[in-house]
Amino acid sequence: MTAGTEGQRGVRLTGATLAAEIRARVSESAAALADAGRPPRLAVVVATADESTAWYVRSIAKAAAKVGITCDIVDLDPSSSGAEIDAALRRLSADPSVHGVILQTPLPPGVDFATAATAIDPAKDVDGANPGSLGRLAAGLPAFPPATAQAVVALLEHYDIPLAGRDAVVVGRSTVVGKPLAHLLLDRNATVTVCHSHTADLAGKTSRADVLVAAVGRPALIGQEHVRPDAIVVDVGTNATPDGGLVGDVDPAVQGHVAGLTPVPGGIGPVTTALLLEHTVRAAEGTSR
Ligand code: NAP
Repeated sequence: MTAGTEGQRGVRLTGATLAAEIRARVSESAAALADAGRPPRLAVVVATADESTAWYVRSIAKAAAKVGITCDIVDLDPSSSGAEIDAALRRLSADPSVHGVILQTPLPPGVDFATAATAIDPAKDVDGANPGSLGRLAAGLPAFPPATAQAVVALLEHYDIPLAGRDAVVVGRSTVVGKPLAHLLLDRNATVTVCHSHTADLAGKTSRADVLVAAVGRPALIGQEHVRPDAIVVDVGTNATPDGGLVGDVDPAVQGHVAGLTPVPGGIGPVTTALLLEHTVRAAEGTSR
């Protein structure tokens, strides 16, 4: 299916089909690895009592089991020190039966994510958390990009949305989404603008975008005044609502005013999970991006 071509309006750019395609190839790779005596294994280090995080990590473990990847949830005390988290990440990085290591946020107060993630072996850094992975990505060297950033370009490519020569605007500059995504878009020859909380005239910048990505964490930050009619809009935001639901950063009313919009939930999220699993089998095979 294509979107972003002349005349198309309001296409829902869902992630389910692409996620299923990725999971199918991961299943094949996982079976081949198991046959070769190297069953793929992922470890997720959790150091929080936050219930929604626990739910998210369990959903990764379930998705992993379905494709033949063992997923260990390594629960640390929510008051763990940086040194304790460092030790757990180094132990898993040194364990030859573990192929992928994820450090789940939030971390205990006072523990810096990027500093802690330096303890993840880059070859097992399946969510691109080690700052060294971001550096390699920026330098065009093989590395696992953060799965969410990669999910954005994978979904755009799935829908045949051209990037070369087009204006891409990313709202958000975190090291897990905005910054790595800017590099992935540059790699595909887009002209990239990165906006953040100090950006002046946000609507003026975003309304020039052929491809607009919102990765902020603020419901309805992006409204109709932020988009042009032929834009493709990717909503990375996941914001919990008081009734237990999930909304993105883009006002759903934008849907009818653009060429295409990813839904929340059901857009980037399922592709992100599938790519984490794909990175794990690639790590077990000894390959990366
Ligand atoms: P983050 O670390 O909090 O970064 C948010 C970014 O948004 C920052 O760069 C911040 O600017 C910018 N920002 C804040 N307010 C703004 C405003 N009014 N206008 C423009 N920019 C603004 O968040 P994150 O970890 O990147 O996550 C972003 C969102 O993506 C969250 O909703 C998160 O839950 C979601 N997410 C989803 C997935 C998925 O798989 N679907 C995965 C990861 C994250 P400054 O740098 O100036 O502070």
